[in-house]
Amino acid sequence: MRYISTRDKNCFVSPSQAILKGLADDGGLFVPEAIPSADFSAEDYLSLGYDEMASRLLYKLLPDLGLDSIRSCVSEGYGDKFDSSERVALEKVGERFFLELYHGPTCAFKDMALCVLPRLITASCALNGETRETVILTATSGDTGKAALAGFADVPGTKIIVFYPENGVSKVQKAQMQTQAGTNVYVCAIEGNFDDAQGGVKRAFEEIKTDEVILSSANSINVGRLAPQVAYYFYAYGRLLERGEIAYGDEVSFTVPTGNFGDIFAGWLAKQMGLPVARLRCASNENRVLTDFFETGTYDRRRELILTDSPSMDILVSSNLERLIFYASGMDDAFVRKAMKSLSEDGFYTVPEDVMAKIRADFDFGSADDSRAGEIIASCWNEYRYLMDTHTAVAAACSRPADVVLSTASAFKFAPAILEALGQLVPESGFDAMKALAICTGKSVPAALAGLEALPLLHRDVIIKDRITEYVKERI
Ligand SMILES: *Cc1c(COP(=O)(O)O)cnc(C)c1O
Repeated sequence: MRYISTRDKNCFVSPSQAILKGLADDGGLFVPEAIPSADFSAEDYLSLGYDEMASRLLYKLLPDLGLDSIRSCVSEGYGDKFDSSERVALEKVGERFFLELYHGPTCAFKDMALCVLPRLITASCALNGETRETVILTATSGDTGKAALAGFADVPGTKIIVFYPENGVSKVQKAQMQTQAGTNVYVCAIEGNFDDAQGGVKRAFEEIKTDEVILSSANSINVGRLAPQVAYYFYAYGRLLERGEIAYGDEVSFTVPTGNFGDIFAGWLAKQMGLPVARLRCASNENRVLTDFFETGTYDRRRELILTDSPSMDILVSSNLERLIFYASGMDDAFVRKAMKSLSEDGFYTVPEDVMAKIRADFDFGSADDSRAGEIIASCWNEYRYLMDTHTAVAAACSRPADVVLSTASAFKFAPAILEALGQLVPESGFDAMKALAICTGKSVPAALAGLEALPLLHRDVIIKDRITEYVKERI
């Protein structure tokens, strides 16, 4: 099994090398040359626990690491950091299902992958006789940063440097990152938005040529980040089967709140691996670059980024779409190379109609603004006493009856917007807002968030995006 670059399919590496490199040398993303099949029987869906199901799928995608090594990456990575050994929960709310992916240590779905990634990297180093330090560079729109910091903190042989947009993350997200302890962690704010941070980090990868450390990424461009996300689609299917909601082989549709296109691309991979999926619905907030792309076939980032109540989806360049276009175009690496060049130079590219037809056969799309999301938050609470966060609400607004809606964060991470949606007064401080939300809903603030207020602020650096390369060089 080989991984090839989306921009040059003759450039290939082993799965573990793809994890260590993060990005291909030509700037492309690594993808499996042939997508393996999961081969789960009805019995497998019903009997496999989350960790075992995830391990078997990871082994299909990353075979050179070996099943036993993957099993320990998964079980030690998730460990006792989750609310339950089930890792995720599937709740029926009216006619829909909510797949709650936020029961991990940082209360966001990013934990599903970022608890496992550091161990996949360590295992990949061992397999490749690699003794150099791994330095993780990451740009975050909020949740990735904290989940990555928590995953990598004090992991031997690694260092992590996280950049976030100064005014593009919630107060609680900022506090989560600024309070991160660990001798190997660095956190720095960027004057600008998420795309500035991501662009600066991509440039740092190109500009820093060193053999002394391995530079890698915890963004969803890393296959070690993407692969663990395939598991919860299969697991949700098993739970629907178990409860008699579907019969074995029935197709299920998923609605996914989308930013960088990583989560929903993992769903597409699950479908290619044999999961019976009808449609994957791509939900965007007011930054509807993807909605427009699915509608018109032109991906156009030439617009102002709008800061919304769902900041983890405030993105104009959805990096993982490159992977989908690679496959949908019949692995046309020359086309992908040209399209990505035109995206970075001219700000847009257009995909031919026959390729778009293939994409539209699998994907549906929609967008919802803050007020629409707020209405859904209020109506679900009033009707069903079900509390969801702002990102999940965007997806719920774009979903259809019987869909599985991916629920990506705890409502307490975005308490001010939730309080507003519920018609409550919004306290000035993010922490007071969490407490107010707990009082008005009768639910308790997750322990990982409740404890933040008492922690010291350890990271206060703020720089402009053009200094990212220099900042990194000074720390490796
Ligand atoms: C990251 C994130 C998303 C978007 O996921 P992508 O893989 O970037 O598409 C949605 N919701 C929340 C809460 C997130 O943290």
